[in-house]
Amino acid sequence: MAKRVYLFEEGTRDDRDLLGGKGANLCEMTRLGLPVPYGFIVTTPTCREFFEHGNKLPKTLDSEYKVALSIVEQKMSARFGDPDNPLLVSVRSGAPVSMPGMMNTILNLGLNDAITEGLARKTGNPRFAYDSYRRFIQMFADVVLDIDGSSLEDQIHDYKKMHEKPLDTDMTAEDWQVIIAGFKETVDFPEDPFVQLRLAIEAVFLSWHTPRARVYREMNNIPESIGTAVNVQAMVFGNFGDDSGSGVAFTRNPSTGEKTFFGEVLFNAAGEDVVAGTRTPLGLDALKQHLPAVYDELYRTQLLLETHYRDMQDLEFTIQEGRLFMLQTRSGKRTGRAAIKIAVDMVVEGLISEAEALMRVTPEHVEAFLHPMIDPAAKQDIIASGLPASPGGATGKVVFSAEEAIEVSAAGEPVILVRRETTPEDIHGMRVAQGILTELGGMTSHAAVVARGMGVCAITGCSALSVDIKTGQATTRDGIRINRGDIITLDGNVGDVMLGDIQKIEASDSDDFQTLLSWADKHRRLKVRANAETPEDAIRARELGAEGIGLCRTEHMFFDASRIDVMRAMIISESIEERRVHLDKLYHFQHDDMFQLFQVMDGLPVNIRLLDPPLHEFLPHDAEGVKHLAESTGKTEAEIEAISRNLEEVNPMLGFRGCRLSVVYPEITEMQVKAIISAAADAIEKGIDARPEIMIPLVINVREVRLVSAIVEQIINEIMTQRRVSVPYKVGTMMETPRACLGADRLAPAVEFMSFGTNDLTQLTYGFSRDDAARFIPEYLEKSLINADPFVSLDQRGVGDLMKIALERSRKVKSGIKYGICGEHAGDPESVLFCHDIGLDYISCSPFRLPIARISAAQAAVKDKIR
Ligand code: PEP
Ligand code: MG
Repeated sequence: MAKRVYLFEEGTRDDRDLLGGKGANLCEMTRLGLPVPYGFIVTTPTCREFFEHGNKLPKTLDSEYKVALSIVEQKMSARFGDPDNPLLVSVRSGAPVSMPGMMNTILNLGLNDAITEGLARKTGNPRFAYDSYRRFIQMFADVVLDIDGSSLEDQIHDYKKMHEKPLDTDMTAEDWQVIIAGFKETVDFPEDPFVQLRLAIEAVFLSWHTPRARVYREMNNIPESIGTAVNVQAMVFGNFGDDSGSGVAFTRNPSTGEKTFFGEVLFNAAGEDVVAGTRTPLGLDALKQHLPAVYDELYRTQLLLETHYRDMQDLEFTIQEGRLFMLQTRSGKRTGRAAIKIAVDMVVEGLISEAEALMRVTPEHVEAFLHPMIDPAAKQDIIASGLPASPGGATGKVVFSAEEAIEVSAAGEPVILVRRETTPEDIHGMRVAQGILTELGGMTSHAAVVARGMGVCAITGCSALSVDIKTGQATTRDGIRINRGDIITLDGNVGDVMLGDIQKIEASDSDDFQTLLSWADKHRRLKVRANAETPEDAIRARELGAEGIGLCRTEHMFFDASRIDVMRAMIISESIEERRVHLDKLYHFQHDDMFQLFQVMDGLPVNIRLLDPPLHEFLPHDAEGVKHLAESTGKTEAEIEAISRNLEEVNPMLGFRGCRLSVVYPEITEMQVKAIISAAADAIEKGIDARPEIMIPLVINVREVRLVSAIVEQIINEIMTQRRVSVPYKVGTMMETPRACLGADRLAPAVEFMSFGTNDLTQLTYGFSRDDAARFIPEYLEKSLINADPFVSLDQRGVGDLMKIALERSRKVKSGIKYGICGEHAGDPESVLFCHDIGLDYISCSPFRLPIARISAAQAAVKDKIR
């Protein structure tokens, strides 16, 4: 049988798994010689035993903690259950991973009528004794006996009102005695302190399974199985009088990261009074003035703890009759800005290394520098939640169409574009919107991909909302209506929709952030590129550190209102001659766009993917659109409808797209390659170092690659011969079908690079439609059928295995192939780690995700070195 109970001097900070975070830190502070009220810890494996045995404590646990308790009694010179010299204890949870406020705590345990009388005698402070007793009864009733705490609070409230004593400090010992007598009519609690202790330990274990603790674990990916430890610690009292008090402090400012000792104190108050916020605490200057020796000791202690832990600490302390006691130290929660400032400052101060600083930064911290964020303190009125498709916070007037979005935004007002789903026709509206909200669509749907690319806040798959475009209304499941023109706020970081204008914290760059990114670049092995189509995106991508373009989705270049008509006309052409007329027009757009991209990316690779739209995305969706197309092409509306019907597909995502278009319409590929290479030749003539890479999408076998490559090579040779210019180009393929991955050895000789398109690869591996999976994925997650949305976090087992197979098989037959990833996973930190581990050469993500990708790539390299 393993030891189940540890005294504070028996553990260290490395014992988090066994003793929980709080317990391990109490042990560490004890070992550092700091004034910690003495105590012991019941281990986390005991919690697991408790659950395994049907919520029963092990038989011998009683005797184990009684031994520990007797040592605590000796150290504190008091006895548990002795009315003449009582020892009181706190009983608190403490999981290996911090779960602040999620589980239960009981304070002042060990009191009953006789012991309270004794405490009053011993301290000469009956008011304090009876106040402590009533607090204990309230907590015990709430936590152990499951009695609604508000009924007891009501009794206090009514009494205070009746006796005109608005503040707790107005209450005398006699007042509290009346309250306690009232409590005892409803609360039947055990008088025996040992029974109280046993029940309290059980209650803390049980609180591991409260709904709020479960939700917190789910949100933070904390495993259900780890369980919590229980900390039993001698009580010290901040409510003993004016030379007593309680407080919290941070070794640096948790909002700004500045290196200033920062905290709050309440005199003559228990710790829970500080947390409850019923009285306004004072700054630490007040402590310096009132009890200077205590302040000095606290100041020295915080310095010691921060240097010892090499991180900003969040401290809890109590002062009892002029004596300082440390109750807790832990790494302090901080804002994104503070996190980065602290990490950089600590490197400069020589406290941590660059690698350690990089490991301390999370994606959430980075977002604060890129997008306005909803102020967590201001968050309210959440009416629906969807998928956090593109980060940031946005407020605006609700509109239900792209046209309205343009109108309202032209009038200078911010807009939120609400749609059932988005299509290429909505692009111009999406571009002017502050935020985008869709009822349908997953994390790789059109809305999600485009919004992320633009850096616009978006929530997709918000199935709690029913959007009716016609009436201009969206209704939540609870019947709350959002009308056209209403103001709403989106939190794209978590997917919450709120009514009204919720306060935001503005984004801004900082020197510290740039310093950290420069360290990331120094440490990472993976190259980072951007998915970008427009010169503006490419410029932003370079600013954010892109080392080239890893995916230029050429179909996105035709979404613009001025171009979509030509594109549509091309799609509905009925002969090759007719198609060539429209292709000639598209050529000019394509050529000019490409030239600009080469210009921006001077000297860096620009990977251009041949056209890959599911054709249905481009066709007009309403009568108005059909009419317009008829006018611009000279066809009748009936003809257009007939052609559209002909092009309709049952499963467009599995249909006529990718290189299948090149197979059927080689003239489209010819036009694209002509545009790309001519633009490159023009650029080179102007002294620009253009490096085009031509990428063939949705390949299934080498015959397709050979067929398309032959078209590509022929056009390239023609242009180079004609122009007498040598363009340094590469041809390669996307790896986005399982068959391509399995047959990578056969593809290898025909390509110079392979780029994993993990959006389609995930879709095809799972058989989950990218456009429809948002309807059922939440249920899959809730029922633990999958661990994460595979469109967000790369499925390393299935999709990842296919990637590994592709690498292994292709490397066997050819060396020197460049491997990349350009699916949305390239911006997800966990997935980046995997890409590093399997040895990809680069990752390519939307521009705004580049800083996170750079840091994640550096973290992967640092982890690699530690291993
Ligand atoms: C992919 O499938 O991962 C990809 C990058 O292409 P798209 O999202 O354009 O299909
Ligand atoms: Mg794809």
